[in-house]
Amino acid sequence: MQRAFSKFVGNCLLFLAGFLFAALTSSEALEIGLGTADITPDVTTFRVPLAGYGARLGRPATGIHDPLRAKVLYLNDKNRHMALIAVDLRSSTPEFKKQIVEKTADLGMNLDNIFVAASHTHAGPSMYPEKFWQMQFGKYDPAIVDIMTSAIAQAIRRAAAATIPARVGYAAKNLDGFTRNRRWRYNTEQRNANGETPNVEPKLSVVRFDDMNGECLALAVHFAAHPTILGAENMRISAEWPGVLQRELERAFPKCVALYLNGAEGDQSPAVGEGGDEFERMNNYGMRLAQYAAQLAEQIETRPDLSIGYMRCLPDLPEITFPESARRKFAAYADAAREALPGKAELQLFQIGPIALAGLPGEPIMEVGQAVEEGFADSDFELPLAIGLANDYIGYIVNEKEYAHGGYEVESRSYYGSGLGAFIETEIALMGKKLAGKATCD
Ligand SMILES: [Zn+2]
Repeated sequence: MQRAFSKFVGNCLLFLAGFLFAALTSSEALEIGLGTADITPDVTTFRVPLAGYGARLGRPATGIHDPLRAKVLYLNDKNRHMALIAVDLRSSTPEFKKQIVEKTADLGMNLDNIFVAASHTHAGPSMYPEKFWQMQFGKYDPAIVDIMTSAIAQAIRRAAAATIPARVGYAAKNLDGFTRNRRWRYNTEQRNANGETPNVEPKLSVVRFDDMNGECLALAVHFAAHPTILGAENMRISAEWPGVLQRELERAFPKCVALYLNGAEGDQSPAVGEGGDEFERMNNYGMRLAQYAAQLAEQIETRPDLSIGYMRCLPDLPEITFPESARRKFAAYADAAREALPGKAELQLFQIGPIALAGLPGEPIMEVGQAVEEGFADSDFELPLAIGLANDYIGYIVNEKEYAHGGYEVESRSYYGSGLGAFIETEIALMGKKLAGKATCD
């Protein structure tokens, strides 16, 4: 334990003072500011391959179905400031985050106080500098990333320049029939023999930010599912159902900015309902989800003067290894994979009063997400949320049980062995304790 902690401390930066949820009397004076940016690439000027499905073979987008946006929630209390950035993209990259930081460094923004959360839309641009990812999603033009990060930096500036005192509250509810476990098809017989049941994560959480008069300023919606209603044949840019969800919420709350945060979606597929074509089905799914989110938002009571905090850790990842059953398949691009994949996991916590946002750099399956959230049990957070696709991408994050079942998430996109899930769970639990002041460094 001693060793684990010293490693932990060596790799961590913690910015927190006066952490006490209950100490509302100390008047931390939370303020927030909002910013929105259109980050839709210009497909008439640039060649824009879409990231998400390898089956598109790197072909460029042919048009725009609906725009991609970035939403900035800038927060400050009297001690510190930080920005949560929700983007309609497949995943973030270190280069993407670095550019945002560089363009806002004069505001005191850095890698620790900026949290990038991608929706995982499969109809956004390929934006990966590494050959390994370009082999799968197509070459990208660095000018596109430069334009997107400049637009986001401007949105951060607008948000930081317009902060006002804010109240925060939250609500959560389980939704049946919105998700299915897409890994149940692998090893089904053995799963049945083991007495397993298909896991789904039904929890919809909404965090509401109001001004001091109770007028809604922002809604952050957390729900775990793949934005994969549009298939590989779709060649038009789209924010997918998270775009519909955010648009509909902003219609229902016209003065409010909606931010979508994906969860532990590694094995969660959308249970798609009625609709004549995939665009209609995507629209219906997003609208139904927005109705539930709006109902929750209406019920939320907010409170003022909360404190905020953040922490970012970069623990060394387990050694890169490919599953036994996929070694032959990986042989052709194992070198490119080793070159592209990070040696450290970027893990990030944002604390907003009693809420902990845990950013994981990849696609955790729901069991890992639940374990991550349960890992906060000793840390006094009322609402811990595991957020996938945050900041960086290390592939799927599965546990030992699911690793043994194989399938796409393991054989095509698990790069750090069967212990990755447990490793991430342990690291985040340590971070939660530290952020809550329940663990010391020595
Ligand atoms: Zn995925």
